[in-house]
Amino acid sequence: MHKRTGAAQTGTDKSIHWGNGILLVITHSGAIAALFFWSWPALISAVILYWIAGSLGIGMGFHRLLTHRGYRVPRIVEYFLVTCGTLALEGGPIQWVTTHRIHHAHTDKEGDPHTPRDGRWWAHIGWIVRGTAQNHDQATYERYAPDLTRDRYYVWLNKNYYLPSFALLIGLLAFGGWGLMLWGIFLRATLGLHATWLVNSATHLWGRRRFLTLEDSRNSWWVALLTFGEGWHNNHHAFPTSARHGLRWYEVDVNWWGIRILQLLGVARMIKRLQFNHTLTTWHVVTDSE
Ligand SMILES: [Zn+2]
Ligand SMILES: [Zn+2]
Repeated sequence: MHKRTGAAQTGTDKSIHWGNGILLVITHSGAIAALFFWSWPALISAVILYWIAGSLGIGMGFHRLLTHRGYRVPRIVEYFLVTCGTLALEGGPIQWVTTHRIHHAHTDKEGDPHTPRDGRWWAHIGWIVRGTAQNHDQATYERYAPDLTRDRYYVWLNKNYYLPSFALLIGLLAFGGWGLMLWGIFLRATLGLHATWLVNSATHLWGRRRFLTLEDSRNSWWVALLTFGEGWHNNHHAFPTSARHGLRWYEVDVNWWGIRILQLLGVARMIKRLQFNHTLTTWHVVTDSE
């Protein structure tokens, strides 16, 4: 097994990542099987879990809170959001954050784990099933996510990230039957994976560029709708720490609304967000102290 420290994560080793490959075959097969078990409760459970895993978990938890520290919440709330993120079946939090911080450090350059400059399908799914981009060693974790490797819960959850999903699967099967389980876990997770991957592929290929960043990131309204706001990716690359990605009222950013609700409830504070300075006619990041 090839493991490297630091930037050169993609490398030339494109051998099959069997663990991920088998998991994806299982999730996609379950998603197809779900189509034969249609019911309204199954659909509603899938929609609710798509939001819990994708918005509370990945967007608000893994991405804007853990990776970029765009806002702060009490530790117990942070653990809750991050645990929701594991339901997306995108790996453990330390692994996810490390991969994403490497993406920001080397965007569309040598060392980016998933740039479309290495191929569109590579950026979407190829890097998941082939190569070593997800095999971070301890030194890479400590270089890119030292704030997380010190946290015993995250170290445990990183190794056992599939356990919350497994518990949910058993619960749905026991109380809702096959239909609820197949829709709530397999179909929902498969659609969620492709939505997240579109942020890596589509929003580095298609869409408008508000900011002339030194890479290919773009704002995509349809990826934003599928990912609760993560598609405003050019805004995000220009100002990665901002907890708000959609900057205009029509740039739908459900993850930002969630963070804003936590702020109004007095749960989230130190929120970094983009503000337009009309005198300087530029955007800049401000921090709400409360
Ligand atoms: Zn990006
Ligand atoms: Zn980011």
